[in-house]
Amino acid sequence: LAEVLKIIVPLNLDKEFTYKHYNPNQELSELIGKRVLIEFNKKVITGLVIAIDSQEELSGINEILDVLDEKPIIDTKRIELLRWIAMYYIASLGDTLKLFLPEFLNLRSRLFVKVNTLALFKNSVDDLQKSIRKVESNVWHKYSEFKESTKLNDNEIDYLYEIGSIDIKETLKEIQYLPTNFKVIIFENLQKTKLSPTLKRVYKYFINKPDIIHNSLILNENKITTKSVKLLESLGLIELVEVRNELQTNSIKYTLTKEQSKVYQNIHQSSNQLHYIWGVTGSGKTIIYFQLILDELNRGNSSLVIVPEIFLSSQLFERFNKVFPNQVAIFHSRLNPKERKELYFKIVNKELKVVLGARSSLFINIPNLSLIIVDEEFDSSYKQDNPSPRYNARDVAIVLSKLINAKCILGSATPSVESFSNFENGTLELHKLNERINKNGEVNVKLIDMVSARNTGAIKQEFSEELYKAIVNNRENLTMLFQNRKAYSLYHQCSDCGVIETCDNCDTTLTYYKNGRYLKCNYCNFIKKVSNVCNLCGSTNFDYLKYGNEKIEEDLNELFPKLKIVKIDSDSIKRSKDLTLLNKSIAEGKFNIILGTQIIAKGLDFRNLLLLGVLGIDSQLFSNDFRAKEKCYQLLSQIIGRVARYPDEKGLVLIQTNSPNNELFNFVIEGKTKEFLENELLIRKKSDLPPHSRMITIELLDTNVQRLEKTALAIYTHFPRSNYYDFFEPITPNVRRINNYYRSLLLFKIDKQKDKSGKKFSNQMKNYLIENKEELSRLRIRINVDFINNVI
Ligand SMILES: [Zn+2]
Ligand SMILES: [Zn+2]
Repeated sequence: LAEVLKIIVPLNLDKEFTYKHYNPNQELSELIGKRVLIEFNKKVITGLVIAIDSQEELSGINEILDVLDEKPIIDTKRIELLRWIAMYYIASLGDTLKLFLPEFLNLRSRLFVKVNTLALFKNSVDDLQKSIRKVESNVWHKYSEFKESTKLNDNEIDYLYEIGSIDIKETLKEIQYLPTNFKVIIFENLQKTKLSPTLKRVYKYFINKPDIIHNSLILNENKITTKSVKLLESLGLIELVEVRNELQTNSIKYTLTKEQSKVYQNIHQSSNQLHYIWGVTGSGKTIIYFQLILDELNRGNSSLVIVPEIFLSSQLFERFNKVFPNQVAIFHSRLNPKERKELYFKIVNKELKVVLGARSSLFINIPNLSLIIVDEEFDSSYKQDNPSPRYNARDVAIVLSKLINAKCILGSATPSVESFSNFENGTLELHKLNERINKNGEVNVKLIDMVSARNTGAIKQEFSEELYKAIVNNRENLTMLFQNRKAYSLYHQCSDCGVIETCDNCDTTLTYYKNGRYLKCNYCNFIKKVSNVCNLCGSTNFDYLKYGNEKIEEDLNELFPKLKIVKIDSDSIKRSKDLTLLNKSIAEGKFNIILGTQIIAKGLDFRNLLLLGVLGIDSQLFSNDFRAKEKCYQLLSQIIGRVARYPDEKGLVLIQTNSPNNELFNFVIEGKTKEFLENELLIRKKSDLPPHSRMITIELLDTNVQRLEKTALAIYTHFPRSNYYDFFEPITPNVRRINNYYRSLLLFKIDKQKDKSGKKFSNQMKNYLIENKEELSRLRIRINVDFINNVI
């Protein structure tokens, strides 16, 4: 028997491919986790070796062309994680590999794409193929530029490649990088006379600069490229010696309260791997994180702290950096590729041992990782909706920690129903923090029945009389108003003929932005100028239904002309810097009223914020999402937590609602989180909903609605039935067409007792997809396991 390599490729293919080594004496197991170059469908691409297998006959098996890495870039435990993600989330191995390949290691950054002319004249051309018609054919385009001009995603490009409409090739140029800090040893050599002017300049620079050199400094200030440094090194003129950062020990001191210290000790001494810190707002979970991270640093280990993207600010970094100077890497989406690459290598080279990042930082091959913290674990941004794999970072963190034998700490003030049920069944060890470090003020929460307010005329615009008066009374302090909908109104309707403006590409109405005078689709970002005259009847009267924050701002300006208002939403906060600046001017007292979407639920901390008015919560409470109540509860408790945060402050919260009798409000008003979660868990259990069962949606998309419905029905009819899952008739979603793709949903409910790991159903579904590849090839299929964001 002879050994062969099992290789996966970063294309949407759920397969391991077999290759042999060109060097028969090479120990193959050393190649696991390394990238190799292979010939694949007559093209040269990068693959990752994930296993060794043995085979009797080696003839007919292709050889790999080259090994790209000296050290594995993904260790064996993370290869197991990769396999688990592909299994549990029913994704292809190839798509899952993309998660683990940072963009500078992913071949796509070095790919070129060519459109095949012949493919464009085929009889059956689908919409994807149409989208490449405008691209000049038979010419190699940079992958990124091709993607930009066609607006296609990676999966769609993979599909076009599979059907032969495009060719993809890779440049074989190896990516080179320099150590972050290094010294240069100079060698005298006659060869230098033959150097190009550029190399001469670089060589001279090094002769005159014998001390430690910082990589970025060279690159930026002296216009020296990595390539020229590497060239000089290869000519034997210089040698680079890496210099590691000295650890600074003068970190700031912090002290744990009695309660914090008890929780820390309990976690420290516990033999359990999975923990949960349930701490009320302001109870100082972070201090416990610090202490746990410090322990790991003292053992020479690394820690990973995952937070929702929106939290990743320079303030957070500074806070961590003060405690762990020169040891913190912060990974956020605003890093440029160069910064990202530099940080990545500092982490894998153990220069930085505390990694702070959004969900994608889970896939960095952090050496000696022994502690994973997932803060605000309930946050729905931990779930990736697109592209596949549609994973939940919280759950992947738990699986990773088990694989690498690390401790995993989840934390929040309002646990998710999933985690709450995991306290009850003993999966998570629960630790509670009930005391705030700084004693906060008192908050009185009241409901305002908007139906009766409207009936008795006790309203001004969108404000109840009571809220209006409260704003007037609070004018010396800070007021916060919550309206989660952006724009002016959800509908723009002709008052005379009733026609509502809708999207050209989706079956949905267009949202009206009065300030910019345009209508916008929330699904495909289609934008249309607003016309003053109805296209259908010529009327000039319009109704605006379901108001958003632009309308509230307009009302506020009218009702309170003297008060200064600041509107905060995802349009006004594009970068974390914006939020920092806003925070500063609010703290300086430049505003009386903060009008915000859910963006204000997180992190805002102001003195004298004594009034909160909740204007639009009903639309979120009444949706067909079974998690609606849970999400509302979390959102409301977070924003209420912003009020009266300082001792002796007295705060008031007024919630305007059309359904004051909804039981959710009782739990909110009395702050009974545990009771709410118990109640919610009971309801879920009765209706056999998650976490009691596992729910999976299969979303089918097609430009042809008849074909879509036929396929959906065929799957429903032919997909095998079994006793461990329920399978429902195809559902037509509320928004039936998005971006010209019609949608149909198939819903599966899996009995977790009978398919604990998810493997049974995953195999069943994957087999079905392979067996019916032909019929399904016209569709786009999105599989979403444990969906959080409502797709219906
Ligand atoms: Zn009209
Ligand atoms: Zn649209």
